[in-house]
Amino acid sequence: MSNISKDTICVQGGYTPGNGEPRQLPIVQSTTFKYATGDAMGALFDLKASGYFYSRLQNPTCDTVAAKICELEGGSAAMLTSSGQAASFYSIFNIASCGDHIVSSSTIYGGTYNLFAVTMKRMGIEFTFVSPDCTDEELNAAFRPNTKAVFGETIANPALVVLDIERFARAAHDHGVPLIIDNTFATPVNCRPFEWGADIVTHSTTKYMDGHGAAVGGCIVDSGRFDWAAHAEKFPGLCTPDDSYHGVTYVKEFGLGGAYITKATAQLMRDFGSVQSPQSAFLLNLGLESLHVRMARHCENGMAVARFLQGHEKVTWVTYPGLEGDKSYALAQKYLPNGSCGVVSFGVRGGREAAAKVMEGLKIAAIETHVADARSCCLHPATTTHRQMSDEELLAAGVSADLIRFSCGLESKDDLIADLAQALDRV
Ligand SMILES: *Cc1c(COP(=O)(O)O)cnc(C)c1O
Repeated sequence: MSNISKDTICVQGGYTPGNGEPRQLPIVQSTTFKYATGDAMGALFDLKASGYFYSRLQNPTCDTVAAKICELEGGSAAMLTSSGQAASFYSIFNIASCGDHIVSSSTIYGGTYNLFAVTMKRMGIEFTFVSPDCTDEELNAAFRPNTKAVFGETIANPALVVLDIERFARAAHDHGVPLIIDNTFATPVNCRPFEWGADIVTHSTTKYMDGHGAAVGGCIVDSGRFDWAAHAEKFPGLCTPDDSYHGVTYVKEFGLGGAYITKATAQLMRDFGSVQSPQSAFLLNLGLESLHVRMARHCENGMAVARFLQGHEKVTWVTYPGLEGDKSYALAQKYLPNGSCGVVSFGVRGGREAAAKVMEGLKIAAIETHVADARSCCLHPATTTHRQMSDEELLAAGVSADLIRFSCGLESKDDLIADLAQALDRV
């Protein structure tokens, strides 16, 4: 069937059981797979045949769930990873190495910022961070001859700034490199970055995709549209023979649709081993089956809470992309016409101390290092997730010291608003 709806893919994508096979996705809880001859297995090691031999590289349960996410994003190939962090790392390390350079939006998840600015820098990969609302001139000036990719988030966590994906894709392509988009907060239900020119999408599946706070996980999806071969001198890892696989050249052997994910599986999973467990993939799939239903409710609650906070005398500011007058409102209308996410951020009169008091007064929303869960939760990034950042870096990441990130779950919006109202009354 062509043009199948995302709702149907959420429920049924990836897995089609045959006659007499289980209706629910089987958990293939096996590290290894049996072969009749050494030659048969050798062909797998040489990437000459496809099949499973060891779950550090590939596992049928994980592949089935990756295929569902791939279909949801409209991609050509996908892989699961152990976490969103692993997905972000692989997405870049697959095409960049020591001596290379990446352009990244400055409004990204704190963990990703640390990965890029500290850990990957130690590996010899340099990052230039640009504001998502920089001018085209500033954006183009960030590129260097050794730039290998551009990175950004559809909806930044926790700044909630919407990225102008088309503009960033154009700049990336003008410089012969792909645009990598972390689509965690929007999910493919609300935005498919490939439709706007992005080339690779990453996810922390820990958030809305799982949706129940059950399993940490990540995913990388390739659009299959970036022409590595046209920029072969920039991407030797994809366009020249890989000695660790008997001289296979990924773009030749697997085409534009398969080269990137095959290389990430064959090299990065082989060497770093950040696999998702089949059990976690099963839980992720349960979450995906209701993603389209849940996202609509998260967005409805997010909008209601944002409107309530906007009208409250003790609230100094509210950021929610769906809110009229929000800095990202126009971009949200373009990229997220059906809703953005359930996360709202706001500041309280009285700053840091008042923010702490409001959070402690909440009875339904719990203080957690988490977002995008069925249960509402809240967090003060300046003292938790982003505490390693200086005030200047915080500001560049769009996080002020009084910012409370409130993640609307699936509870009744009236109850969430009543809870916030009584907590705000306490300050
Ligand atoms: C949480 C998060 C990550 C990291 O994902 P983990 O699964 O926690 O490793 C990356 N990007 C965004 C936008 C996130 O919210």
